Amino acid sequence: MHYADQHIHSNFSTDGRDTLNNMAASAMDKGLPLICFTEHMDYDSHYPDGIFEVDTDAYLKGFTELKNNIKAPLELCFGVELGLQPHLVDHFNEYVNNYPFDLVLGSSHIVDGMDAAFPKYYNSFTTEKAANMRYFEAELHCAELFSCFDIYAHLDYALRYAPSGTSDFDYSEYGDVLDSLLKTLIDKGKGIEVNTGGLRKSFKRLNPHPSILKRYRELGGEIVTIGSDAHNTSDIASGFDIALSALSDSGFRYYCVFRERKAEYLRI
Ligand SMILES: [Zn+2]
Ligand SMILES: [Zn+2]
Repeated sequence: MHYADQHIHSNFSTDGRDTLNNMAASAMDKGLPLICFTEHMDYDSHYPDGIFEVDTDAYLKGFTELKNNIKAPLELCFGVELGLQPHLVDHFNEYVNNYPFDLVLGSSHIVDGMDAAFPKYYNSFTTEKAANMRYFEAELHCAELFSCFDIYAHLDYALRYAPSGTSDFDYSEYGDVLDSLLKTLIDKGKGIEVNTGGLRKSFKRLNPHPSILKRYRELGGEIVTIGSDAHNTSDIASGFDIALSALSDSGFRYYCVFRERKAEYLRI
């Protein structure tokens, strides 16, 4: 597998299982050219299951030691996954400027103070469609407000947790808001991610749905990364064959690798 995995959590993330060193060793065993660690920084999130704020100084120290000791050919990059919420614009602008990140993912995990992964979120709407719509509207709002990220991660993440448990998705039901979201990202020079994490859940599909990838491309979007969202060694690069097929089918000929917040386009 000669593709970069740019969404990886070590145990510097609250829900990560394995050390930076073990994650890197596993990536090397799998023959990956590059991995980017993207630890959770969900500032002010009040999750039911803990605090998801990486100790960034300790993470940078551990990362730097590993990078200095690791043998080629695996390249390591230093990233973060920001949990975007509208009131955090100034906070995250300052945070991102304080560290030498290669890649900054922006994610919507919390909407209107509720974690979309917990039943309370969907239970607070009369229909599943209304909950999905609100999720996409919240992402549009964050895409307009924030500029400190490079890639909007797992764009339809909430749908993994929809009560119907279905991975079916009809773009046209959300077409207006999704078109606005994708156009906003394209206008701001921001990319999206193909996240394979959902393949490992009962949901069993990529995030976002391939129709969203296709539409981003149709509207002129070119910046796309691939990420496993691995929280342990065995999930690194899992499902990449499916992600690559979806990208090709959606009209992409290149994917991006980020270093020092700049994209390099590599042929698929
Ligand atoms: Zn996430
Ligand atoms: Zn993640």
